[in-house]
Amino acid sequence: MNSPDISFSKLDFSQTPFLVIWELTQACDLVCQHCRASAMPEGCPDELTTTEGFDLLRKIEAMGTPVVVLSGGDPLKRPDLLKLIYYGKELGLRMATIPAATARITPELLGDLKQAGLAQIAFSLDASSETLHDGFRQVPGTYRTTLQAIEWAHKVGLPVQINTTYSRYNFSDIDAMIELVSRLDIVFWEVFILVPVGRGAELEGLTAVECEQLLTKLYHCSTRSRFLLKVTEAPHYRRVIMQHRATSPHTVQDMADSAIPTQLGGGMKAGQAFGQKAKGINAGKGFCFVSHTGEVFPSGFLPISAGNVRTSSLATLYRESELFQSLRDPQNLKGRCGRCEFRDICGGSRSRAYALTGDIFAEDPVCLYEPQG
Ligand code: SF4
Repeated sequence: MNSPDISFSKLDFSQTPFLVIWELTQACDLVCQHCRASAMPEGCPDELTTTEGFDLLRKIEAMGTPVVVLSGGDPLKRPDLLKLIYYGKELGLRMATIPAATARITPELLGDLKQAGLAQIAFSLDASSETLHDGFRQVPGTYRTTLQAIEWAHKVGLPVQINTTYSRYNFSDIDAMIELVSRLDIVFWEVFILVPVGRGAELEGLTAVECEQLLTKLYHCSTRSRFLLKVTEAPHYRRVIMQHRATSPHTVQDMADSAIPTQLGGGMKAGQAFGQKAKGINAGKGFCFVSHTGEVFPSGFLPISAGNVRTSSLATLYRESELFQSLRDPQNLKGRCGRCEFRDICGGSRSRAYALTGDIFAEDPVCLYEPQG
């Protein structure tokens, strides 16, 4: 079993991902505009089985990975979700999940998830108003369902995370959204910057100027919030933090050097959540994504597979595949990312570079920075 005191700073990302996301299913009853998985009402018959899932969780634990997120689609469409959470928890893994906001979520179900050993639950909330959020999710009522689910999760003692995806659609809502999430008593806010894959390819992404404005607002939010704030698919948030730190006395949450909290889900205080130590994580570096059929990707937004867990060892694919090794080598970066003094802690979004240019090593077009070196 993993030591409960495992320190993020001691993980060697060439050997061990901090986080593995397993996409349990692509089945989902919502049709969100930005859906990476282009989810469908029914799951694929070739999904990993429960037995294969147990095997995968053992392999993840054997790599030394502390955190597993069961994603979808809608993980609640898998009848074995509770068993998988329980199994992972018994192995010593910190288990999280992100259900879709549907009528499947009830106080009883949330109690069962907590009982099974779930350490954190994430809900997607993309805007501060019902009209904007439901327009994005394309199913009326999801905004209210999400707020209700958050309230129920609090009642059963499940630490709550909110995930928000930003595109041109909701960019102007950022100030109101910061105000809303600050009122929801969450432990973690994960902000995704749209990568145009899946159904998200039809949405308009942020420009570099808009992204810089958004990241700056998020930085200021992080300095006064009790929850942790992480940005996904815009690693130049770390560059923004460092630039502000150079002129600001604030301590920023996700750049600190303390160990991962050890009591997730039990006695956890506000400001303690996993993902806290996201320093330096990028596609294939501290992170990997296992699809519903077992394909192993460097990121859920980067559709190049290194192989399949049904035929290869997850550890071998992560540690030794040319794809993952090349992504961990900053020498391969091109353009501004290649000559950037922040490339070791940032490196740009490899998923966005691939989606927009077809080259996984191209510069991230949504970063405004002009390297000084
Ligand atoms: S140029 Fe690339 S490496 Fe440098 S801060 Fe921007 S995205 Fe990061």
